[in-house]
Amino acid sequence: MLPSLFLSHGSPMLALTPGPAHDFLTGLAATLPRPRAILVASAHWETAQPMVNGPARNDTIHDFGGFPRALYALHYDAPGDPALAGQIIDLLGAAGLQAGIDHARGLDHGAWVPLMLAWPEADVPVLELSVQPHLGPAHHLEVGRALAPLRAQGVLVVGSGSFTHDLSRFSGQGPDAPQAPDVAEFAAWMDTALREGRRCDLLAYRHKAPHAVAEHPTEEHLLPLFVAMGAAGPEARAERLHASISYGVLRMDAYAFQSAPSG
Ligand code: ZN
Repeated sequence: MLPSLFLSHGSPMLALTPGPAHDFLTGLAATLPRPRAILVASAHWETAQPMVNGPARNDTIHDFGGFPRALYALHYDAPGDPALAGQIIDLLGAAGLQAGIDHARGLDHGAWVPLMLAWPEADVPVLELSVQPHLGPAHHLEVGRALAPLRAQGVLVVGSGSFTHDLSRFSGQGPDAPQAPDVAEFAAWMDTALREGRRCDLLAYRHKAPHAVAEHPTEEHLLPLFVAMGAAGPEARAERLHASISYGVLRMDAYAFQSAPSG
């Protein structure tokens, strides 16, 4: 059974910049069975209600500004899966979550940057799922729960965000800048809560975790974690696959969620 994953995508420059997180992602596919499709809940697609994209083939969205031209030359035109998009809508609907399909939208960098490193051939169908920042962690856990049956069909459910995401301190930092102490404290609290399966504390992270509001001034980059957790079912167990820091403030941590102790 496939796990579900939370991946930190960091700066779009991750696609071109060597380093620990880049290396982790380039080695990721070899650690997993080949999925029949990948569904990515991306921090970079915010909608009022859950939306799934359903083109026959994905365009690459360069949804960022001010980066080197080489980044805009990258394309990840993985096939879509309109039929699977319809099934996802049905699963969400059965859980009481009204959702829609966007037949035109392609992949934003929350999806294509990590996938380009992990599955560079772009031959696995990819679908994207939007987040609803105004609805908070519990809603995203519920969305993930509704999608849990997909794992038995070989669909890899991925939440793509950032373990910490205080962009107010990002500019002017080099990629190898030392980690800010408050970033480390927040990440350590989250890691312990994840390993111990303290779901109620995690859902209330904004009130319980140190520096939570500072590390996530807005929640959209952490909410994909809850989709991934939900997709592994009520007994989800978290395993940290990777931990590193970039630009001093962006933690690049990644987790796998399994529904059984041995997976
Ligand atoms: Zn991002």
